[in-house]
Amino acid sequence: MSPRLVGAEQVIARCQQLARFSEDSAGTRRTFLSPPMREVHREITAWLQALGATVRIDAAGNLRGYYAGKPSAAPRLLIGSHLDTVPNAGAYDGVLGVVIAVALLAALDGEKLPFAIEVVGFSEEEGVRFGEPFIGSRALVGRLDDGLLNRQDANGIPVRQAIKDFGLAPKEIPEARLETNTLAYLEFHIEQGPVLEAAARPLGAVEAIAGQSRLKLTFLGRSNHAGTTPMHLRHDAVAAAAEWISAVEHLAQNVPGLVATVGKVEAKPGATNVIAGEVLLTLDVRHSSDKVRVRAVDDLIRKSEEIADRRGLKVHQGVMLDQAAVAMDPFLVSQIEEAIRQAGCEPHRMVSGAGHDAMILAEQIPAAMIFLRTPGGISHDPAESVAVEDVEKAIECGVHLLHHLASSPEFLKRT
Ligand SMILES: [Zn+2]
Repeated sequence: MSPRLVGAEQVIARCQQLARFSEDSAGTRRTFLSPPMREVHREITAWLQALGATVRIDAAGNLRGYYAGKPSAAPRLLIGSHLDTVPNAGAYDGVLGVVIAVALLAALDGEKLPFAIEVVGFSEEEGVRFGEPFIGSRALVGRLDDGLLNRQDANGIPVRQAIKDFGLAPKEIPEARLETNTLAYLEFHIEQGPVLEAAARPLGAVEAIAGQSRLKLTFLGRSNHAGTTPMHLRHDAVAAAAEWISAVEHLAQNVPGLVATVGKVEAKPGATNVIAGEVLLTLDVRHSSDKVRVRAVDDLIRKSEEIADRRGLKVHQGVMLDQAAVAMDPFLVSQIEEAIRQAGCEPHRMVSGAGHDAMILAEQIPAAMIFLRTPGGISHDPAESVAVEDVEKAIECGVHLLHHLASSPEFLKRT
């Protein structure tokens, strides 16, 4: 093995090393441009420079490592993921995709491809510090706008100031945009769910990122005494909400691929001996088909009205988010499947229920993702893990994929 090669065990060790750069001493928490991000940048920069890449941190705080192609004016392929984390995070969500990208450069062992490879470590994907995700990738597609730059964290610090505090210049954000000769974006990421494990497949080819609807609902009934109000004279908002929550679960169980969740329930006044007069609920609905998702949301709204009517209550609904599904590039998806096969695995086509940077990049360039099986489906938790054999397969798949793309006239003529 060439001394430059980075094996699966080293990839895992590097992820664990980066997990120690944290805002919290007890666990991993690394939000947008927090001090430990500087240490992460320093480590990854050293790894990339040792492979002959040139590294810069763009004005949105994204790490950009450029490994030249041949000829020097060759177009570029982006490979990356995010470097920020949720609070009390695991070591692999996001970071693994960047570390695998470095391992792929290492595997080239100095070979130049007909495209340059730019390794991208996004500064922000999770939305923890500013309550708004994808700050890093939005800069690449030119959507890091004033509205977002003025958004403040819990301490009243705007994104713009956080960028300055890190020693970067907000006025240079336009220079973070994608070069016009960018061919595509690839992202390796842990699945963060149980699907690949249940299918006994190490790797998945993501064909779409699910669209999402988020709503707020309020059932308005009448508060009254729990002891003196007979059952037939009640307008119980909790009972109405409970009936509706069951309907949400029932619908999702009967529509293939649909997931629907009521994640928050708040009853008022919230006392043991008082019939609740008001219940606030949230609804989260996801599907790879926008048509199926929108129909499900319409059905559930109708159902809430029917339940409210029958029980003599009122119901209000408010839409908080209506985000369309994003298809991954079909050519890249089929190339990924082929590369997974060549690595000796049966590929598994799947939909990502979670949002990812790939969905932002897909606004402007072909994008695709490769998922790695996640033991127990556990993520956003210190117990998050990945099997060394699966990382090995991911690297193998990545190397095949790079070589396929390098010899594909269809791919190379895409800029
Ligand atoms: Zn992630």
